Amino acid sequence: MPGVGEGYVVRRGPRTLWRDARPLLSTLDIELTERCDNRCIHCCINRPQDDRVAEAGEMSTERVLAILDEAAGLGALVVRFTGGEILLRPDFAEIYLYARRLGLRVTLLTNARGLTAGLAELLAEIPPLEPVVVTAYGMRQESYEAVSRVRGAFAQFRRGIDLLTEHGVPFVVRGTLLPPTRDEMDDFEGWAAKLPGMDERPGYIYFLDLRQRRDDPAADRRIAGLRLTPEEAMAALERDPRLARSLRSLCAVQAREPSDLLFKCGIGMRPCVDAYGVLQPCLSLRDPSLTYDLATGSMREALADVFPKLREVRATDPEYLRRCARCFLAGMCDQCPAKSYAEHGSLDTPVDYFCDITQAQARFIGLLADGERPWDVTDWRERIACLKA
Ligand code: SF4
Ligand code: SF4
Repeated sequence: MPGVGEGYVVRRGPRTLWRDARPLLSTLDIELTERCDNRCIHCCINRPQDDRVAEAGEMSTERVLAILDEAAGLGALVVRFTGGEILLRPDFAEIYLYARRLGLRVTLLTNARGLTAGLAELLAEIPPLEPVVVTAYGMRQESYEAVSRVRGAFAQFRRGIDLLTEHGVPFVVRGTLLPPTRDEMDDFEGWAAKLPGMDERPGYIYFLDLRQRRDDPAADRRIAGLRLTPEEAMAALERDPRLARSLRSLCAVQAREPSDLLFKCGIGMRPCVDAYGVLQPCLSLRDPSLTYDLATGSMREALADVFPKLREVRATDPEYLRRCARCFLAGMCDQCPAKSYAEHGSLDTPVDYFCDITQAQARFIGLLADGERPWDVTDWRERIACLKA
């Protein structure tokens, strides 16, 4: 694929464990559309529901089914349909049924507004085998519609939840922490606790990405203004007693020798087909120089020959080399090429927002002292060992 790693230094390393021992694909994300019936204030991807240009470029039904066939043939066991809003596609039921007939478990990410009795019956009769994930953008009409910016959206969301409940379709809800909803955490968690299938405290969208396609500077400015400060984020996270535990285990598992490798995540192992049939190495990474157009090649080629090369790409940005390439927290930090691309248009410029959040989290669990910088820490192995003890 031309353009891979352009501007970065590629070195050949030992063959990866991935190639020898893992199937080429286990889970595939497919974005069925970028259009959405909501216009959420924080959204990093949505196009208007009636955007006919976007709609005309979307994959046909046949194309999606062919991609599902190919994914199943490569060993996929799970497909996750996301958007935009997946229920905007008139062929949603056909695509869903096809995936289930292939034996794939299906995760559906939706705002539930477009759910109908017929679709709820379908999901009850032929279950997705994974809980439907519904994002709640507010507990009251005012808050929900201040986020979604669509009148009537709250009533449709609640009707969608009722339909799932009445039909016994397993689902989970997750919340968003935005100015209109930050005071509703108690209400949201109390409501969620009464829903069938919500055995655990619900998760939240805490940290906001800028527009992943770098297509709307005004929206980027708005999203940046909605972000929690590190102090606010930590205060919200402290409410959840699981937080410190999960942060500690994340650090213990993810801490590793600092390195100048650009990707620290097994890039390409959880690819995503975008709404237009382009394979991305992951859901968020949309830099056109790293994606692979499935109209001109095969998913097998992308997964076997193209994306693995990304794991050898090394960073060159001086600030990245000074900080991230020497940072023992890199494994738990949201800084990655996808975030860097959305924020700066490059792949390896550190994103200060995620840097500050990660350092606040590390201080919270005692890995960093006040004023200390993670790239200056030399005894990080001992600190991680204490964490594990
Ligand atoms: S519902 Fe989801 S995809 Fe739609 S605008 Fe809101 S955040 Fe974006
Ligand atoms: S915490 Fe900061 S220095 Fe460390 S990886 Fe994240 S962005 Fe880079």
